[in-house]
Amino acid sequence: MALLADGVSRLLIDGKLTSGGAGGFATVNPATEEVLGEAANADTADMDRAIGAARRAFDETGWSTNTELRVRCVRQLRDAMREHVEELRDLTIADVGAPRMLTAGAQLEGPINDLSFAADTAENYEWTQDLGLASPMGIPTRRSVVREAVGVVGAITPWNFPHQINLAKLGPALAAGNTVVLKPAPDTPWVAAVLGELIAEHTDIPPGVVNIVTSTDHALGAMLAKDPRVDLVSFTGSTATGRSVMADAAATIKKVFLELGGKSAFLVLDDADLAAACSVAGFSVCLHAGQGCAITTRLVVPRARYDEAVAIAAGTMGSIKPGDPSKPGTICGPVISARQRDRVQSYLDLAIAEGGEFACGGGRPADQPAGFFIEPTVISGLTNEARVAREEIFGPVLTVIPHDGDDDAVRIANDSPYGLSGTVYGADPERAAGVAARLRAGTVNVNGGVWYAADMPFGGYKQSGNGREMGIAGFEEYLEIKAIATAAN
Ligand code: NAD
Repeated sequence: MALLADGVSRLLIDGKLTSGGAGGFATVNPATEEVLGEAANADTADMDRAIGAARRAFDETGWSTNTELRVRCVRQLRDAMREHVEELRDLTIADVGAPRMLTAGAQLEGPINDLSFAADTAENYEWTQDLGLASPMGIPTRRSVVREAVGVVGAITPWNFPHQINLAKLGPALAAGNTVVLKPAPDTPWVAAVLGELIAEHTDIPPGVVNIVTSTDHALGAMLAKDPRVDLVSFTGSTATGRSVMADAAATIKKVFLELGGKSAFLVLDDADLAAACSVAGFSVCLHAGQGCAITTRLVVPRARYDEAVAIAAGTMGSIKPGDPSKPGTICGPVISARQRDRVQSYLDLAIAEGGEFACGGGRPADQPAGFFIEPTVISGLTNEARVAREEIFGPVLTVIPHDGDDDAVRIANDSPYGLSGTVYGADPERAAGVAARLRAGTVNVNGGVWYAADMPFGGYKQSGNGREMGIAGFEEYLEIKAIATAAN
């Protein structure tokens, strides 16, 4: 059967697809502003039931100890998504405004494939480690260290790469033996709701193990952070909301995983191929209209070649026209909403107020009367002190900043409240690697290397968050450690 056949999505609570206690809300195509259909709008009673169901499924069923069942179920979800991949592609383009070309990677197929890594990791994991016999305090003891699921996971996710973020939480959390309540962003409810349909209709995932609660009410996310029945909150979104999640979770001392904002730097060393580096920097900030937390939005270039660097970046970005994300050649689609477009525009106005200039772009494209489009924009003439160089804009906007050598470039890159990612371009590999090693950031690309992969941990330093998603480290976020000592007399 087709997904969302009647144009209305439902919640998944305790194994049942149900409507929301608060009725429904419209989901909008950001490229056209057309209403795609309706999503179930959960209320607090729905969230309460979802948390209760997840708690029961964890405490009263064999899910957390039956690794074979979990591995099978995660693979079933992967296979169901693969079977429906073309439907999911169209839905993702419409619901997220994601350029079609990105659905071959991180917007869809990448995260589907990465479910294999979660299943394989659980299948091959050393759940019990034998530390052997010892005699601490003279008492002969056999010691082992056991890894087991944390319990009920509250997963709260944003709208920018929703499959990637939903599945990078769901896959490892389930494979590790947890039960989950997923509270996705209200801007992209369908991308999450289809998971509910696929889980209910194409997998053996038992009732209550996964609950998907779409809602316009952000307070339902806060419920997850506060509720004592939830053992871990895994959150991706803005640093401001992450702070609130951490504070809400403090009362019950629950584990908190946070993947937050970024203002990452692209460092061009003075021996680098300036044209190649600045073109890559300009291109990458246009992908998905700059709505990626790890996108390098500060281009830091040798002062002596500043004007040249600005011109190259503007040449690249000025030639990328924002447009219809369903077309195969589109790189830069819309931003997610009118609110987000207005927020980006307010930062562009701020850039001028701070004394900056636009080398290209600067506003809404005249040839796109509908849809939430913003022109790729290069800001020049500002230092790293400017607010547009310090705050996350989340649009196709690049600020070019001069540096006075490697030490200064590293200082500028690290002079940020964030520490999510970074890029270094330089001709001498040893020198570039040395600069990369000094960056206070969770992922670093040297000369075009790609850190995005199922087995690579992703996450931030400083106010970009704590913990890691993906890789073995991302799997282990969802595990507790139990040390068992048995007297060996
Ligand atoms: P947000 O942080 O407001 O929302 C993310 C998720 O948290 C959503 O599901 C939302 O409903 C939920 N939420 C909101 N308030 C909550 C609360 N008090 N407690 C618990 N959950 C809560 O992010 P947004 O509105 O989607 O975007 C705002 C800004 O966040 C963007 O402009 C961008 O700067 C940043 N952002 C960052 C990322 C990232 O991956 N780092 C992704 C999307 C957005």
